[in-house]
Amino acid sequence: MSQKIAESSLMERIVSLCKRRGFIFQSSEIYGGINGFWDYGPLGAELKRNVKEAWWREMTRLRDDVAGLDASIIMHPAIWRASGHVDTFSDPMIDCKTCKGRFRADQIDEIACPQKPSKSVVTCGGEKTQPRAFNLMFETNVGPVKDEASTAYLRPETAQAIFAQFKNVLETSRQKVPFGIAQIGKAFRNEVTPRNFTFRSREFEQMELEYFIPPDEAIEAIAGSVAKPTGPGHPGTPRPDWGWQLWHQYWVEERIAFYGRIGLPRESLVEYWQKPEELAHYARATVDLLFKFPFGTQELEGIAARSDFDLSQHARRSGKPMAVFDEALRNAWALLDDRTRERLAASYRNHRLAHYSRSGVAIGEATALAEADADNLAKGQYIPHVIEPSAGVDRLLLALICHAYAEEGVTDEKGKTETRILLRLHPRIAPIKVAVFPLLRNRPELVAKAVEIREMLRPHMTVAYDDSGAIGRRYRRQDEIGTPFCITADFSTLGENDPSDKDTVTLRERDSMHQQRIKISDLLPFILTRIN
Ligand code: ATP
Repeated sequence: MSQKIAESSLMERIVSLCKRRGFIFQSSEIYGGINGFWDYGPLGAELKRNVKEAWWREMTRLRDDVAGLDASIIMHPAIWRASGHVDTFSDPMIDCKTCKGRFRADQIDEIACPQKPSKSVVTCGGEKTQPRAFNLMFETNVGPVKDEASTAYLRPETAQAIFAQFKNVLETSRQKVPFGIAQIGKAFRNEVTPRNFTFRSREFEQMELEYFIPPDEAIEAIAGSVAKPTGPGHPGTPRPDWGWQLWHQYWVEERIAFYGRIGLPRESLVEYWQKPEELAHYARATVDLLFKFPFGTQELEGIAARSDFDLSQHARRSGKPMAVFDEALRNAWALLDDRTRERLAASYRNHRLAHYSRSGVAIGEATALAEADADNLAKGQYIPHVIEPSAGVDRLLLALICHAYAEEGVTDEKGKTETRILLRLHPRIAPIKVAVFPLLRNRPELVAKAVEIREMLRPHMTVAYDDSGAIGRRYRRQDEIGTPFCITADFSTLGENDPSDKDTVTLRERDSMHQQRIKISDLLPFILTRIN
């Protein structure tokens, strides 16, 4: 039976477990810590690797149409001017003249005042300064001279490197649109108010996919029409007549399915479609996948249809072409009737004109550029549009731990009831897959069997070995860190009770606590099918 815990104390218990068992530590703790930075301990490091590995495997290795990238954290600062981060990547910040607290203007009602450090969610009521824009990018200097020319930034997202390397990846991977580029890596944001444990950190990791697709005008020219979504749910295997809407829906559903496969079921998530007034100016649609954290329902991942904004910006600012040549489009265009040709060219011209105008290009130049783009479309050339599923590793880890955390009242054979704390982590991501115990540490035959099993399993999975304390306590220790299976070498293993039990062990399952006897020779296939 699961015990209900108040949400505030639930978060405290989770933070405490993370520290106690070596999942997450405060960075620089021996010097009092540094706000917004966290370190992953032995189990956290394993869990994080497993989560990133699951994402990478599904996004790249199990697909033909996605290539990987691992780019540098510091890039040419022109990238951040082109992307708009230098000018607009900021939060509104205000100071309180009384308590000297510093707040994000849009969160002022949610943050505890330093003068009222209780559970208060209001500020001290002192006079506030006007909000001013605070750029979230961390600055550094490249080279020995510290001046404006040497200023560079720690990347606030991994996505821009994908756009900057678009042409190199396209040419070397022999991909064709539609295709994607995936990347996992560190990102840095000088958040005004880091909080909620690792949820809002100043250094974190992202897992981002940029999936490049043709503009709808090209789809219509090639396929005759653009298929529209027919209802909610997964739209199935991609088809050549999919436009941006179906591709967007496809990625929303793929991402939800991924979360299900690592232990966050659909019911634990909320799909939030941003309202038109909330959308970034270049975005056509954005879905935020939210998770019900103990401190509130908050964003885990954003899946945005970003039009052709990013590649267009880099094409214009770098002077390097970002358009692709699509032979199917060129051939199809030649067969279109004049009216269709004119209609598609006009639609494309208008979209491009809107893009240039929003990017600040003077109307005369914008009109000429849009005209040239429409001419190029007729020759089979366009700048791809993009769908971007962008997830945070640290937030996902926190969501997985929160979702897995449970406290249960259990009664032993003597009728004694105690609370067992467990992490019901999906076996695929659990940091330790199996723990092996000799029933008694002072019986060399039992120890030899347990060591033999550990060595047999170790090349295939993470294995813990524990020979100290009562067996029940050893089970509890593993429950608390989410180990899905425990194996005990006992007297039956030696054939002392019943010769037919020789070379069998007790296998105990974490969630059900069910125990069964299993042959040592069957252990590896049994566990492998459950952790993969
Ligand atoms: P928020 O509104 O919470 O600040 P965002 O909309 O700015 O997030 P994006 O720029 O879309 O976030 O980044 C994509 C993902 O990166 C987020 O969904 C989140 O998982 C992760 N992320 C962003 N900022 C942080 C942060 N400060 N700490 C941890 N993860 C973050």
